Amino acid sequence: MPGFSIPAIMLRRMDLGDYDILVTFFTTDRGKVSAVAKYAKKSVKRFAGVLELFSVLQVVYKSGRGKGLPVLQEAALIQPFYKIRYDIQKTAYASYWSELINNWMEEGQENRELFRLLRHVLGELDRGIVGDSELSILFQTRFITLSGFAPNLSHCSICRVAADKTPNGKIAFDLVQGGLVCKKCANRTARYTWLSKGTVKQLLWLQNGDLKKAVRIRLTGQAIREGLKLLEEFVPYHLGRVPKSLKVLRQIRPDYT
Ligand SMILES: [Zn+2]
Repeated sequence: MPGFSIPAIMLRRMDLGDYDILVTFFTTDRGKVSAVAKYAKKSVKRFAGVLELFSVLQVVYKSGRGKGLPVLQEAALIQPFYKIRYDIQKTAYASYWSELINNWMEEGQENRELFRLLRHVLGELDRGIVGDSELSILFQTRFITLSGFAPNLSHCSICRVAADKTPNGKIAFDLVQGGLVCKKCANRTARYTWLSKGTVKQLLWLQNGDLKKAVRIRLTGQAIREGLKLLEEFVPYHLGRVPKSLKVLRQIRPDYT
């Protein structure tokens, strides 16, 4: 069977014995793919300097025989995103996004919109014009929406009043129900994350607005603090586990709370 040539983003790499590397890519056509890069550890000619995390590559791989893993045949660098790998905070954010995709996606499940989103935020993270935390808010909001757990940020989940028609001050977000709850409907005993109305408006725009225009996002300090807190609780909660890289990110990042 001939190999496929497709664009791919490196999500993960792991040593496999003394010679080989197991790489996991996120591809346009075939979603997540794990493949063996044979002799990639020993030979300097094979894949030299190409199989780096978060890089965009053009890869050719062949299905494995029987139950064997696919085998990587060629890999050419399209966008290396060097700046991400030389910056500890950028690396931590990119690792968190990659781990979310790696944990959530099934092998072979196509999701072009998610591919576009990851490529976009990695590109912007490398350029460094938009803040790292703003990009993480953008990524998480859209990732969780594409995953089918879109948070309801437009109206109270109970009385359905529009968020901008609720009384001034904070509005509650119920993590379990995945939506807003206005002050009138809020239950004193429930555990909520509280958001200012300004934050809700900005998150809603990031969730549904044009991805290219999102390059110009400038969130207020309050929206960054509240948005990160909300999403870093909400996203792992709905995916059922806290990614290891999120714990690392929290240790190295300046305290936003
Ligand atoms: Zn209500």
